[in-house]
Amino acid sequence: MTRMWCVDPELLCRQHLLGEHKELHQLVGHIRAEHMNAVKGHADKGQVDTSRIATRHESLVGEMHKRGYNHNSPLEYDDTLGLGEIDEQANLDDLAARCDACRDRIEAAHR
Ligand SMILES: [Zn+2]
Ligand SMILES: [Zn+2]
Repeated sequence: MTRMWCVDPELLCRQHLLGEHKELHQLVGHIRAEHMNAVKGHADKGQVDTSRIATRHESLVGEMHKRGYNHNSPLEYDDTLGLGEIDEQANLDDLAARCDACRDRIEAAHR
């Protein structure tokens, strides 16, 4: 599933950080291939915001470097679609509910 969490990248566990990064590349692949039904479907569900793809990729890559993960996939993307909107607080609650590793990071950050 394609999902841009758009929460502070420091709060994501390894799996969710690398997962969101991979999904950004897949999302751009969909856009380039003009799979617009897929893109609009994700946008309608609040899972993506195409206007944030480029800056979000930079943030995730910055956090990956901080943790010493490899990144060899530059992403050139200039949004002209403006599709979708993200509810970051809802995503934070969702991550805390579904992932122990993310919840530990979120709780540590709020202590
Ligand atoms: Zn990348
Ligand atoms: Zn997680």
